[in-house]
Amino acid sequence: MSDVVLQSIVKRYDATTAVDNVSLNIRQGELVALLGPSGCGKTTTLRMVGGFIPVTEGRILVGGRDLTSLPPNKRNMGFGFQNYALFPHMSVGENVAFGLQMRKLPKADIARKVKTALDRVKLSHLADRLPKQLSGGQQQRVALARALVIEPDVLLLDEPLSNLDAQLRNEMKLEIRNIQQQLGITTIFVTHDQDEALSVADRVVLMRAGRIEQMGAPDDLFERPASHFVAEFMGVTNLLAGTLESVGRFRLKSGEVVAVPVAGLSGDLALALRPERVILDGTDEALLANTLSAEVEFATYRGLVIDYRVRLPSGVTLIARRPSPAVGGPAPLSPGRAVRVSWQPEAGTLVPV
Ligand code: ATP
Repeated sequence: MSDVVLQSIVKRYDATTAVDNVSLNIRQGELVALLGPSGCGKTTTLRMVGGFIPVTEGRILVGGRDLTSLPPNKRNMGFGFQNYALFPHMSVGENVAFGLQMRKLPKADIARKVKTALDRVKLSHLADRLPKQLSGGQQQRVALARALVIEPDVLLLDEPLSNLDAQLRNEMKLEIRNIQQQLGITTIFVTHDQDEALSVADRVVLMRAGRIEQMGAPDDLFERPASHFVAEFMGVTNLLAGTLESVGRFRLKSGEVVAVPVAGLSGDLALALRPERVILDGTDEALLANTLSAEVEFATYRGLVIDYRVRLPSGVTLIARRPSPAVGGPAPLSPGRAVRVSWQPEAGTLVPV
């Protein structure tokens, strides 16, 4: 079993606490994405798991074995980095074989394992090329083959897709997920891209300032953000500050009172409302609980959707997202146009600020 357990790990550099008491249990075969803005401690956490950076406090266990003080080469983990870190003077095959040679495996075993690893990433035909003769996507595949060839207990990937263009990133994302599932390998995947995290991970760990802000299944974070920070990071454009007036009634700071789902929260809160849930000039009866008049300020055409910024008489602005005419959406609205803004009470989530 290769479940990974992080027990209260801390990393301090003089005055900076890069990782501040992070505990995490990763199940055998699970892919966990460490997500968060630059500087939140994702890479430092991953590097401590890999043994590249010593922990200041805490323990790291894999399959029940305490690895906290072992060097990287004694941890049986595979690594994939943003810059691939391939040896430039070695061929693709030699790059992949390197880790096995270090382990002094018999030549025939090395050849067989290298072939299997290159087959898995569909690169067997390029085994004799040098890294510089490959595209970025191909180099990333070599890096993945090299990480997997040692049959690691755990795979650690640090922003593996960030140097690839959008289309290739999508392709590689699916491929990494596919291979990870085929092999059932426990994986930690660092990214700052919420979309990437949601689409590859079994579980997402959102970090902020060295701590875990929220962890859960992708839909937990996306649909049930537990804080203002999580909601904002997950793309909620509308966060309206206010307080609960009574059960299910929320008074915005700007004065409007709107219906909200019943939540066991109090004090200063924000109503988190996805732009897709804000309806302009809707006719559905169910929307009537929250309907306010507003004016279109401006529209941003985004291909599949158009984002409208609308302003309420109190001055509060909201973003409403509608399908664009390109995908059968309604005709665009011009700035200055008076509209009704509505949303269903259940579309909103209250979060602490
Ligand atoms: P990014 O996405 O930009 O790589 P990250 O979430 O991976 O960010 P880390 O690289 O883990 O963040 O850094 C976390 C914090 O620790 C940052 O504030 C960083 O400045 C600090 N830090 C990292 N390494 C060191 C170091 N060697 N000495 C001092 N501070 C460091």
